[in-house]
Amino acid sequence: MRDARGEVRWFDMQAVTRDPDDEDSVSVWTLVDITEKHQIQTALAAERLRLTALLRRFPGGVLMEDAAGVITTANPSLCALLGLPDHADNLIGQHHDALCERLGPERSAWLHQPGLTRGEKRRTIEVTQSDGKTLEIDWLPIERGGEQLGRVWLLHDISEQKERERALASLALTDALTNLPNRRSFMASLEAALEDYRQHPEREGALLMLDMDHFKKVNDTYGHATGDLVLQHLARIVRLGLRQHDTAGRIGGEEFAVLLRDISETDAASLANRLRQTLADSPVVTGDASIRVTMSIGLAMLDRQDANRILARADEALYEAKSSGRNRVCCHRESAITSP
Ligand code: GH3
Ligand code: MG
Ligand code: MG
Repeated sequence: MRDARGEVRWFDMQAVTRDPDDEDSVSVWTLVDITEKHQIQTALAAERLRLTALLRRFPGGVLMEDAAGVITTANPSLCALLGLPDHADNLIGQHHDALCERLGPERSAWLHQPGLTRGEKRRTIEVTQSDGKTLEIDWLPIERGGEQLGRVWLLHDISEQKERERALASLALTDALTNLPNRRSFMASLEAALEDYRQHPEREGALLMLDMDHFKKVNDTYGHATGDLVLQHLARIVRLGLRQHDTAGRIGGEEFAVLLRDISETDAASLANRLRQTLADSPVVTGDASIRVTMSIGLAMLDRQDANRILARADEALYEAKSSGRNRVCCHRESAITSP
């Protein structure tokens, strides 16, 4: 109805008839002005519509429950991420436990409520699904003045971000020319192997330092780009010549290192000699040129000394291999450097 100023007002009107069987009976009408309530309801409905529109387009999954665990909000992304065929609106009104039962033990654990008693304000977990997809799940309680009103879960598919992180981490540890681990990565493997050796000294290990012979000449004669091909050729030979649990790395320009695990000095020297011989026997063919290259190798067995000291010992053996004629393997021992 319009009031005296012409403004629309809303009323709740009720009539009570004194005697319903008497057509002429008096009726009492009560009019309650509910304009404010009506305005609030209209505003709430509009707010709800805006929220629904937002959630429908929101890329993450949203699940909201009231204090009793009854679902009040769910969006299509939530259903997609949880693998539910439902229309999101059909989840509204269902109980948390009923949803968990449908999800099964693995996925229902994602919707675990951690902090109701511990007063936790937020919890974020990362879960990786069997198909490799990674989800980040945020849990937040909704409170007002210490009173629990409900809780929200926000689910995000962070698989692409994880993949980018993995790719970056791998790039940071890989040498771009040869695809072998770089110096930093190799040193980490060496440190780990030394730690392992300290725990299990019966498991012997060896470190090889490889350096191309007269490599400057290759660059000078055929150019730097061809020099790069020769480095890739060596990397391939090393990779193919190692056992599965060995590690090779490019630790300098044309210097490579190899970590051999569970191996005696004799076997390590034989393996090193095989690598050396394979390189010597397989020239790099590019254009008209067939380039023969050789390398020298220094060998040091792992011991209780630190990584730098062992690298230095392998380097001393390499120096000996160079100065005694190149294209050979030398082993560093406490008393002497010998050529097997
Ligand atoms: P030696 O037998 O004594 O080892 O002689 P060498 O000529 O190999 O001497 P050295 O090991 O000191 O030379 C390293 C050369 O490797 C010098 C440098 O120009 C070259 N080099 C280093 N990094 C790269 C690279 O990434 N690509 C190419 N093509 N050459 C490189
Ligand atoms: Mg060198
Ligand atoms: Mg060299």
